[in-house]
Amino acid sequence: MDYAKRYDVIVVGGGHAGTEACLAAARMGCKTLLLTHSIETVGVMSCNPAIGGIGKSHLVKEIDAFDGAMARATDRGGIQFRTLNSRKGPAVRATRAQADRALYKAAIREIVENQPNLEFFQQACDDLIVEGDTVKGVVTQAGIKIYADSVVLTTGTFLGGVIHIGMDNYQGGRAGDPPSNNLAKRLRELPFNVGRLKTGTPARIDARSVDFSVMQRQPGDDVTPIMSFMGNREEHPQQIDCFITHTNEQTHDIIRAGLDRSPMYSGVIEGIGPRYCPSIEDKVMRFADKNSHQIFVEPEGLSTHELYPNGISTSLPFDVQVEMIHSMKGFENAHITRPGYAIEYDFFNPQDLKHSLETKFMQGLFFAGQINGTTGYEEAGAQGLLAGTNAALRSMEKDAWYPRRDEAYIGVLVDDLITMGTNEPYRMFTSRAEYRLILREDNADLRLTEKGRELGLVGDERWAAFCEKKEAIEQEEQRLKSTWILPNTEEGDVVNGFSKTPITREYSLMDLLKRPEITYSDIANLKGEPVADPQVSEQVQIMAKYEGYINRQLEEIEQMRRYEDTLLPADLDFSKVGGLSNEIVQKLSEIQPETLGTASRIQGVTPAAISQLLIYLKKHH
Ligand code: FAD
Repeated sequence: MDYAKRYDVIVVGGGHAGTEACLAAARMGCKTLLLTHSIETVGVMSCNPAIGGIGKSHLVKEIDAFDGAMARATDRGGIQFRTLNSRKGPAVRATRAQADRALYKAAIREIVENQPNLEFFQQACDDLIVEGDTVKGVVTQAGIKIYADSVVLTTGTFLGGVIHIGMDNYQGGRAGDPPSNNLAKRLRELPFNVGRLKTGTPARIDARSVDFSVMQRQPGDDVTPIMSFMGNREEHPQQIDCFITHTNEQTHDIIRAGLDRSPMYSGVIEGIGPRYCPSIEDKVMRFADKNSHQIFVEPEGLSTHELYPNGISTSLPFDVQVEMIHSMKGFENAHITRPGYAIEYDFFNPQDLKHSLETKFMQGLFFAGQINGTTGYEEAGAQGLLAGTNAALRSMEKDAWYPRRDEAYIGVLVDDLITMGTNEPYRMFTSRAEYRLILREDNADLRLTEKGRELGLVGDERWAAFCEKKEAIEQEEQRLKSTWILPNTEEGDVVNGFSKTPITREYSLMDLLKRPEITYSDIANLKGEPVADPQVSEQVQIMAKYEGYINRQLEEIEQMRRYEDTLLPADLDFSKVGGLSNEIVQKLSEIQPETLGTASRIQGVTPAAISQLLIYLKKHH
């Protein structure tokens, strides 16, 4: 039967990609449907209850800059916040929050439920309605046909999902949820390049059976960081400690002895796992010289006794999991509440996508999240935001939009996926970005909120707060530039108290702030002026201290942009471009990059080849 309503955008899947996708489309004014297996599982964290971390918090803050949900939900659900790399430069500083799983999920559900233009429908999507090379809607498991201009698939680990615990395996999308087999079968019939990946999760433990007195305590930061630009500390629930224990020689012996029943080492699992989040059996085998690994013992929430032992994700048989956990300090009598497991699932080569995350072969069909070979909530959320935005733009018959690599980590993520593809779960790192000093987590709003407003993603409340902040930064910079200090005044004496280089002539407060040893709080209210809001003073201080480096990066970006945006005609025959090797012609023809900049980042495409392309374009187009 046909569903009575028709939508502008349908988003399939209520995980991290799906929620950001449907929220984005709805914020832009599109009539949007979130079609998902279960409304109860909207916003579920499949694995560890934490948001952010190095590279990842940059994505969270970018989603936030576009008025997305992840950072706001983290502020409402975060039970421990820390700034990582706090002693390093601002480019690599990152916020990480341990979340109460239930509070986080409730916050996402509340945001999604109260979003105008957005409706839920609980059903599995089993099929797509396709006409020629265009998607027209979806078919649910009950045979209901729902039509829309654009469809975004965010099905996570569910497509053809197989769960492994030792040599036992069964079909599932994640523990407790069904797999998406019908949709997986349908997608395999379409001309997409499909592969298998795997990921894993550790056993969970009852805190009442753990001896914390022998573990190292790990508290959150004294001054609790805030995730959202719109967030505040009053929203944070009670803050609690995490703990640290370690694996030891005995743990490693137990693991090695169980390897013959490991689905990974006996070849039952074919999918490739996450390189940077390996299972404990992987770590023991790959780093054979290490006789101990650190395990973070993290609470799953305020209203549960369950713990997440971060660092021992595994697919070993349950009896080995029990023995291994009991061998660790503090876990001798640990009661396991859920076994660890690995899951194998289908993903699609992201090289078959455009930068808008629309598939190249099927108009109106977008993919976002784990389905594109990524891992992590933040990577999924960022893609969801982008896919939802472009699905909405398509429905409004507007041009697609995506950020460049020098504008956002979202741009880096999408460009990496589309130009290089991936054959292992892809996660974000700050090292993946060329312009780290520009793409800081602290300035995500200054980089992106104006664009978000233009796209229709940013609501009035955030826009007003953003404009106020931007103006306050300009005013404070002006004040510091125009406020001068003389050596023989009282303020001059104060500065001499904390400055390595005494002031011997008149200086502006801005010049003093540029000195490495002087901080904003040292000089802020020397003239009795009120101290700026921390978000404002942070920007003023970073700009003062890193101005030279930032300007150099901006110049580099300008140079790159000159050819970055040069469009390559869709019908360009690369074999006609003189001076390109067969290998380069083959790669370019296969990937069909949209711009010269994208072409330049394809592995093996040399700067010389880019020059040849540029010459060819100038001559022929
Ligand atoms: P998901 O969060 O998986 O959401 C998918 C949603 O789609 C679900 O709501 C599902 O019900 C729905 N759905 C699926 N198919 C259909 C359909 N046909 N019809 C309707 N609804 C459908 N990440 C890390 O960074 N590190 C890790 O160590 C890690 N370990 C993991 C271990 C396990 C066992 C699992 C399952 C995941 C792990 N992850 C890990 C990955 C992390 O959970 C994902 O990256 C993230 O959840 C992906 O978000 P997503 O929105 O793409 O998909």
